[in-house]
Amino acid sequence: MSENIIIVEDEVKLAQFLEMELSSEGYDVSVAHDGMTGLILARESTPDLAILDWMLPGLSGVELCRRLRATGSKIPIILLTAKDEVTSRVEGLDAGADDYVIKPFSIEELLARIRAHLRRRTEEDNRHLLQFQDLSLNRQTRQVFRGERAIELTVKEFDLLEYLMSNPRQVFTRDQILEKVWGYDFIGDSNVIEVYIRYVRIKLEENNEKRLIHTVRGVGYVLREE
Ligand code: CA
Repeated sequence: MSENIIIVEDEVKLAQFLEMELSSEGYDVSVAHDGMTGLILARESTPDLAILDWMLPGLSGVELCRRLRATGSKIPIILLTAKDEVTSRVEGLDAGADDYVIKPFSIEELLARIRAHLRRRTEEDNRHLLQFQDLSLNRQTRQVFRGERAIELTVKEFDLLEYLMSNPRQVFTRDQILEKVWGYDFIGDSNVIEVYIRYVRIKLEENNEKRLIHTVRGVGYVLREE
């Protein structure tokens, strides 16, 4: 899936040039020529990165940046500034921009910065993602998917699956699971693990998918192919 970039730039020729260059790099590009349209575009198209010109009619690039951050947007934002605006670049960074590029700039430099910001963002996302076969779990959003199917887990079910997914093919003993998922001070029936393993299996195998959580008799449980 190609990454979506918005460009907000009132110099029409420059905007067209950037649109052409970024499109030929394989990005999906949307363009606006003023701040307000840019804001609407950014909210509607959920871009992966935004390139905002500093001086824009209506809403400035800095103000646009501030508004995007205020609505919780965490996308990388690159500001384009003319040379004489550089003295106020701190203002841009304060507004939440990640980077700024001074006009006139080489397209190679801008492309390199775009790649760097997108790569950093992907790495951030991957840090939170555990994957095994068609199963994926996001530690940050606490979402679990089997293929395209979203799976709703309770807090303990999630913690249990996260623990097993943290080290696929490693057999975890009942004691390890109890300590890690339920805590050292857990007092109760250790059958609780079996019960929860069953709950999680039912949810993971709802559409007759292949079993991924296996019982190792007399020892514990493991996440593996078979
Ligand atoms: Ca401008």
